[in-house]
Amino acid sequence: MLFTFDPELNTLAELVRDRGAELFVVGGHVRNTLLGLPVSDTDITSRLRPDEMTALCGEAGFKVVPKGIDFGMVEVHIGGKAYEHTTFRADTYSEGGAHRPTRITFSDSPFEDAFRRDFTVNALYASVLTGETVDPTGGLDDIKKRLIRTTTADPEDILRDDGLRIMRLCRFAAELGFDIEENTFAAAKKCAPLLDDISSERVRDELIKILMADAKYGIPAEESVLRGLHLLDETGALDVILPELAAARGVEQSPRFHKYPVLEHIFRTTAMAKPELTLRLGCFLHDVAKPSVLERNGNMHGHDAEGEEMARAILRRLRFSSAEIDRACWLVRRHMFDLDGRAKEPTLKRRFAEWGRERTLALADIREADFRGSIGEYIEVKSAERWRRVLREMEESGAPFSENDLACTGRDIMEWTGLAPGPRIGEIKTALLLHCAARPKDNTPERLKRIARDITGK
Ligand code: ATP
Ligand code: MG
Repeated sequence: MLFTFDPELNTLAELVRDRGAELFVVGGHVRNTLLGLPVSDTDITSRLRPDEMTALCGEAGFKVVPKGIDFGMVEVHIGGKAYEHTTFRADTYSEGGAHRPTRITFSDSPFEDAFRRDFTVNALYASVLTGETVDPTGGLDDIKKRLIRTTTADPEDILRDDGLRIMRLCRFAAELGFDIEENTFAAAKKCAPLLDDISSERVRDELIKILMADAKYGIPAEESVLRGLHLLDETGALDVILPELAAARGVEQSPRFHKYPVLEHIFRTTAMAKPELTLRLGCFLHDVAKPSVLERNGNMHGHDAEGEEMARAILRRLRFSSAEIDRACWLVRRHMFDLDGRAKEPTLKRRFAEWGRERTLALADIREADFRGSIGEYIEVKSAERWRRVLREMEESGAPFSENDLACTGRDIMEWTGLAPGPRIGEIKTALLLHCAARPKDNTPERLKRIARDITGK
C-alpha cells in the first residue's frame, strides 16, 4: 500500500528533502495502519542530526522540544501535533540489559537503523513524500503471518541489549493478538533474568499495558490480557518482576470452589474484571498472600489481610502512585467480605455507607471477577448482584453516604448532647451515619437529635 500523511508532515518532509535527506514515519503508526488499527502517536525519523533538525524547524517556525539530544531525539510541533524525530542510529549497548547505550552512533540509512529497533513489525518505514514502505527486516511478511520476531537473526542480540524488550514482546503479542516466533520466544526465556536491571517505572508501565491489553485494540480479554499474563509466566519474566506471584504457580486449592491453582485463578480473575486499572490491579494481587499463608499455617485463612500488606509492598516497589496503591490495596483487604452472600441487609447498608458508592461498586466487580475466575465462566454472581441492588435501593431511598449527607452538623450534636468539642462528636456522627444508612427516614434533625441523645444517654 501507499501511505499518505497530514499536509503538515508533508511540509516538514519537503524541508527535510531540501537538505538532501528523506523523512520517514516509523514504528507503531506504520504497523497499525497496515493492520487497519488506530494510531496513537507518530514517530518520525531521518538521517538529519538533532541539531540539523532543530535548525531546520527553527527556520520554518516550528517549535522544537529537545527530548533526549544524546539519543538523537527531538519533538517537533506542527499544526497542533507533536512528532518525535529520532535520527537514524546504530547503537552499542553495555552488558547487563539495562538499556543504556554505551555509544550512540548516528547512521545514514533505515537499513542500519532498523536493527537497533526491537521487532520486525516495529521496524517498518513509510516515506512521507513517496508513501512507499521500506522494510529492512521482513516486517511486512511478519505482519501477514501475525508474528512478533526480533529484527536480528539472533534474537538474543536484541533481547540482551534491553531486558524490557521481553515485556514489550509479551505486551505486543497480547495487544495485537500476534504469535511469538519460536526462536524469539526461546531467547526471551533465556534472557528473562535481565529484567532485573530494568527500572521499576519502565516495568510498571509495561505491566499496566499488559493488564489493560484488551482496551488497546478491543481484543477479548482472554485472548489479550490472559494471554499476556501467561506469556509473562512462560518466559520467566514473572519470576523476576513479581516473585511473590510466581510463588502461586501450581499451588492447588479446594476443588469445591476452584477449578484452577492459585496463579491461574489470579490470571483469570484479572482478565475477567472490567478493563479498569484499579480493578485489574486489585484482582491481580487479591490472592497474592495465599502461598505464604498456606505454607505458614497449613490453610489460607487471613490471606486478605496479609495480601493487603504484600500488595502495598509490591505496588510501592513498582512506583505506583499512592492514591492507586490505596485504592487497589483496599480492594485486596476486603475481597473476602460477605463471601457466602449471607450478610443481613442492614449490615450491608452500614458497610456501603461507610465505604461510599464507588468503592462498593468496585468491590462488587472484584467479587464477580473472583467467582468467575474460579471456574473460568461468565456466570451470574448472586452476592455481587445483591450488593448492587442494595446499593441502588439505598440511593433511591436517599440514604446518606457520608457525614455531609446527614441532616445535622457537629455543632447540632454538641448542642443536643451538651458535649464539648472533641473526637466523641466525630464518633457520634459516624454512628448516626451508619444508623441512617439502614433507616434513611431517620435522617431528620428531630430524629437525629433523639438518636444522638439515646447514644450518649443525655
Ligand atoms: P504503540 O502503539 O504502543 O505506541 P509503538 O510501536 O509505536 O507502539 P513505541 O513504544 O511508541 O511503540 O516506540 C516506537 C518505536 O520505537 C517502536 O515501534 C520501536 O521501533 C522503537 N522502540 C521503542 N522502544 C524500544 C525498545 N525498548 N527497544 C527497541 N526499540 C524500541
Ligand atoms: Mg508509538
